[in-house]
Amino acid sequence: MAKIFAVANQKGGVGKTTTTVNLAASLAATGQRVLLVDLDPQGNATMGCGIDKRALKSGVYQVLLGLASLPTARQYSETGKFDVLPANRDLAGAEIEMVELDDREMRLKRILVAHQHEYDFILIDCPPALSMLTINGLCAAQGVIIPMQCEYYALEGLSDLVNTIKQVHRNLNRDLEIIGLLRVMFDPRSTLSQQVSAQLEAHFGDKVFKTMVPRNVRLAEAPSYGMPGVVFDKSSKGAQAYIAFAVEMVERFRQPVSSPLSSIELAS
Ligand code: ATP
Ligand code: MG
Repeated sequence: MAKIFAVANQKGGVGKTTTTVNLAASLAATGQRVLLVDLDPQGNATMGCGIDKRALKSGVYQVLLGLASLPTARQYSETGKFDVLPANRDLAGAEIEMVELDDREMRLKRILVAHQHEYDFILIDCPPALSMLTINGLCAAQGVIIPMQCEYYALEGLSDLVNTIKQVHRNLNRDLEIIGLLRVMFDPRSTLSQQVSAQLEAHFGDKVFKTMVPRNVRLAEAPSYGMPGVVFDKSSKGAQAYIAFAVEMVERFRQPVSSPLSSIELAS
């Protein structure tokens, strides 16, 4: 039965999509069956998996509104070796159209639960807003992974996100918990990065993942080739960090691993 995690942070450009795509590919490389749900109308995760968002016949929008089934809409990422429920700008309309529907917060959950047995991990890439789409992601998930940059303003936004997660936990999804904070685009030479990082550890304790993802240009280049960074350049420091993060996740959630992570061969 799949573990379902939402990758969320309402702040834009903090590495949600990079984290979702690279975690999905790293998990898939260990033999885990993975579904990535792109819940962002920007469709960045879709493109980053090598799927053309402009050519979708159906995607998460149609599935949320009951116009297509998940098996019809999902596609296989050849580069990442996992399934993707893709998105494009159509999804922006779902925000408005779902307001009219009963059970609007639970639409994604209902869909994913029906297919949970087909996967080991389902990862949801949320948009940069605490919107109805993000609420759907949080209602469908058992856990939230929060990528964050270790900079001054990062902590300000964090309390809004934590409050939203608490509200969803209280009112809509008792299973929801914060799995952890992932430090991304980390610069070990910056004093500020180190201070914020230490503050996070002091405040959130073991909710801060041990793995830190450094700023690494190969991770930023990979999406333009339609590839996860861990496939595009497996030996880069950024890729190695995401592979280590996947190890941390698998160890934490004890899904059986069919091939050891240390020896994984990623297709290129
Ligand atoms: P949005 O809020 O718009 O959805 P996001 O939180 O999903 O953004 P990403 O798209 O993953 O963030 O990353 C923002 C930008 O930073 C992208 O150009 C991405 O390639 C780059 N980036 C992400 N992580 C790293 C990293 N560790 N090193 C260098 N560049 C990175
Ligand atoms: Mg994104």
